[in-house]
Amino acid sequence: MRRRPPLELAGTTVSPGRTAEIDLEVGRLVTGSPLAMPVIAMHGRADGPTIWVNAAIHGDEINGIEVVRRIRAALDPRRMRGTVLLVPVVNVPGFMTGTRYFPDRRDLNRSFPGSRNGSQASRVARAFMNTIVDRSDVGIDLHTGSGHRANLPQIRADLDDTDTRRLALAFDAPVMMHAANRDGSLRAAATKLDKPVLLYEAGEAWRFDEAAIATGTRGVLNVLAELDVIDAEPESDSSRPPLHSVECRSSQWVRARRGGLVSLWPVLGDQVLRGQPIGQIHDTRGKRLSRLTAPTDGIVIGENRDPVVNQGDAVLHIAQPVPPPETDTP
Ligand SMILES: [Zn+2]
Repeated sequence: MRRRPPLELAGTTVSPGRTAEIDLEVGRLVTGSPLAMPVIAMHGRADGPTIWVNAAIHGDEINGIEVVRRIRAALDPRRMRGTVLLVPVVNVPGFMTGTRYFPDRRDLNRSFPGSRNGSQASRVARAFMNTIVDRSDVGIDLHTGSGHRANLPQIRADLDDTDTRRLALAFDAPVMMHAANRDGSLRAAATKLDKPVLLYEAGEAWRFDEAAIATGTRGVLNVLAELDVIDAEPESDSSRPPLHSVECRSSQWVRARRGGLVSLWPVLGDQVLRGQPIGQIHDTRGKRLSRLTAPTDGIVIGENRDPVVNQGDAVLHIAQPVPPPETDTP
């Protein structure tokens, strides 16, 4: 069998069957030292596709960093068919300063595909596109809720695209949400290059959430198995439930009609019915200001975790499942 060529990435040569840790220089700090993005390149011994998995495009979204750590621990490039590029932290300045955004307050995920001469965020986006996306076939972008909001583990992707849908089903998160691309996002920029991208949302910023991390790790490995980079788990494994991702195409936030202290009763993943009481808002003296009811049937995919709310704040995110296709019964 022909020996697989080595991977050349940012001046580093990675032999088949080996892992390399690469500090990808994406700019300069004010000190003059390089601004380096960590990349773990796992170059499988046998030929196959290249998949990137990135976390922390938003600097405070750390569940994905732990997912990436577990993926690395689970993979052995000597047994892989293809290449996996792990980028645990894309927004390095945001991660270091504990913020979602770049130091210039720009959202990196609105700065793609970026430019060589633009803002700092735009330059980092460009470097990520040139070094990671251009050489990959498929991407997985790991996120969490923001601003004290927690998300049920869910895939957001273009479910109308056949290849993307196949991978979203394979990931097998509790929910998969059809989502249009947002201008400036990594997903939109990669999609323009015909690379299927799954965006995984789970948990909240600055917290490790075991369910979010475990589901994310399992999901990435499921996708790698679907792409035949790794062996699938034996079908006889009865601990593995059948594919069960609920498809949703619309969702709605419930907003606080009054400012105050909110109590919410459903938890992530709960089914709610239209008109069902889902919480209440009190003032600081204990007077009830508002009762919250579900505006629609659906599944709870996001919730506010900050009890102090202003009038109009989004407190509960409810998605409407698509009815499964009718199956012909004889
Ligand atoms: Zn995010």
